[in-house]
Amino acid sequence: MGLLEGCKGLVFGIANDRSIACHIAQAVLQEKAVCGFPHLPGEKNERRVRKALEGIGVTDPWLLPCDVSKDEDLDAVFASVRERFDAIDFVVHSLAFADRAYLKPGRFAETPREVFAQALDISAYSLVAIAQRAKAMMPRNGSILAMTYFGAEKAVPGYNVMGVAKAALEACTRYLALELGESGIRVNTISAGPIKTLSAMAVGGIDEIFEWVAKKAPLRRNIHAGEVGKTAVYLLSDLSGGVTGQNVFVDAGYNIVGL
Ligand code: NAP
Repeated sequence: MGLLEGCKGLVFGIANDRSIACHIAQAVLQEKAVCGFPHLPGEKNERRVRKALEGIGVTDPWLLPCDVSKDEDLDAVFASVRERFDAIDFVVHSLAFADRAYLKPGRFAETPREVFAQALDISAYSLVAIAQRAKAMMPRNGSILAMTYFGAEKAVPGYNVMGVAKAALEACTRYLALELGESGIRVNTISAGPIKTLSAMAVGGIDEIFEWVAKKAPLRRNIHAGEVGKTAVYLLSDLSGGVTGQNVFVDAGYNIVGL
């Protein structure tokens, strides 16, 4: 019997087989969950997501085109979910966006208003927009999980406006946890150490961050995306029934080092 047997949910944010969302999908499917996969619209995107899911053994995926910056797309996703399921048990928010031109060491102070607003809209507000729609479909408890990074708490060179967006995402998580708790809905984040994905490669100086973490983290290595998948199973399942509003670090311990 799987830890998520009988559970239904959505995993947002698969772009390819390296995406953290793909590893989370693999882990939750192994635990017998049933999932839909919202992804950015477009034929090319759909092909990439389909290929990534094929790689983890999903041959006939339930794909839902969705740009999270558009309310009408989110409404369409949840309308489709309602047609298929009476209720859902979990949502994974594993997505973010910021103009990579401003993800370079030394460029935070130059961030234009529209770049800042877009980064916060897609990377942080989208969690609120998703949670407000998911709430109506979670009458019997639920778990919402988002992905964050240490650059929310500390100034990491090059992470820049994305660090500000992640700080907002983490604050949104706490406020959502506070309000949705009375409906039995838990909301948490995983703060992952650096992993080689499309998004990570957009951050200037990322190779130096990988090298530094491998040298300085207590485990003396970078993490594997599969380790995030396993922690996601914990946070989405009854194993973490009493846990909400928390940020769980999966970073080989890097965040505790005060060197
Ligand atoms: P990824 O594979 O590039 O995933 C990011 C996803 O966000 C992509 O699927 C992307 O779609 C999607 N996205 C961007 N804008 C969107 C929009 N408007 N609507 C819907 N989807 C949108 O990178 P990842 O590293 O797995 O990132 C997943 C999450 O983990 C992000 O929140 C990231 O900040 C976080 N995280 C990553 C690391 C790391 O080191 N990799 C560490 C800590 C936290 P397209 O590719 O189709 O544009």
